Amino acid sequence: MIRRIGVVGAGQMGAGIAQVAAGAGYEVIMSDIEDRFLEKGMHAIAASLGKGVERGKVSEAERAATLGRIRTTLALADLAASDLVIEAVVEDRGVKKAVFAELDALCPPATIFASNTSSISITELAGATKRSDRFVGMHFFNPVPVMRLVEIVRGLGTGDETVRAVRELAVAVGKTPVEVRDFPGFVSNRILMPFINEAFFALGERVASREDIDTVAKLGLNHPMGPLELADLIGLDTCLAVLEVLHADFGDAKYRPAPLLRQLVRAGRLGRKTGRGVYEYPR
Ligand code: NAD
Repeated sequence: MIRRIGVVGAGQMGAGIAQVAAGAGYEVIMSDIEDRFLEKGMHAIAASLGKGVERGKVSEAERAATLGRIRTTLALADLAASDLVIEAVVEDRGVKKAVFAELDALCPPATIFASNTSSISITELAGATKRSDRFVGMHFFNPVPVMRLVEIVRGLGTGDETVRAVRELAVAVGKTPVEVRDFPGFVSNRILMPFINEAFFALGERVASREDIDTVAKLGLNHPMGPLELADLIGLDTCLAVLEVLHADFGDAKYRPAPLLRQLVRAGRLGRKTGRGVYEYPR
């Protein structure tokens, strides 16, 4: 029975996951490596709930109760009392493995570990722990309070009971779970990232302007957002990291990241979260 949830990483995804879990009545404790990231995460949650109140989707009492169920900490050890820990740190297998190895030593054997990775092998991440049967992928989508899907990723050793528990949790927080096998990029990013990558190739080759590339996708392909504005929302660093995983793990040149995407990441233009990516976001 899951009652207490630990969330590692207070970025776009971690904060969103903490918000929906607390909103559904779970006790949440969220960690990060510096106070300023925790503050930013809590600020994002408060702003999102505030918008919900303005739109009449969240009552004032629900807003206050949700915020009251989220605690923050810099010490991973404080997550040891959680029934489930969801990891949402940067898309870097070394960082994720180090976090899971540390958690494995801190948490009792019954605690379920879930990674929100966009592309990294769940089987490989589980290998950093001694609990591969209680290790699973829970891939939420951005923005978490809005997007209804969760990909539940079954690693080689993931137990049926673990899958059942996180499926139930996904439903309890208002999401629709879909079960997928542990292949690079799962289903969502295996399809989405080559699409986004191709848009960066097209932009780099000056086939059309950024606005026109996005307009083609919206008006011609009936997508709600264009690939370049979506990449800015996801984070260009995350897009590049996912493409690197697809490229390396499939060993197929078709996933080669577009030079322009790499260049923007090197320039620190990571998208909305840094105020500038393909587009500018004045604050
Ligand atoms: P982000 O850059 O907004 O946040 C990452 C957070 O992790 C930062 O606050 C950072 O300080 C923190 N962090 C880094 N190392 C840490 C550590 N050792 N311990 C604790 N915290 C640490 O990134 P994001 O967009 O929230 O992505 C997080 C994860 O979610 C990635 O694996 C990403 O692939 C995945 N994801 C992202 C999206 C998306 O659209 N952005 C969608 C689904 C999944």
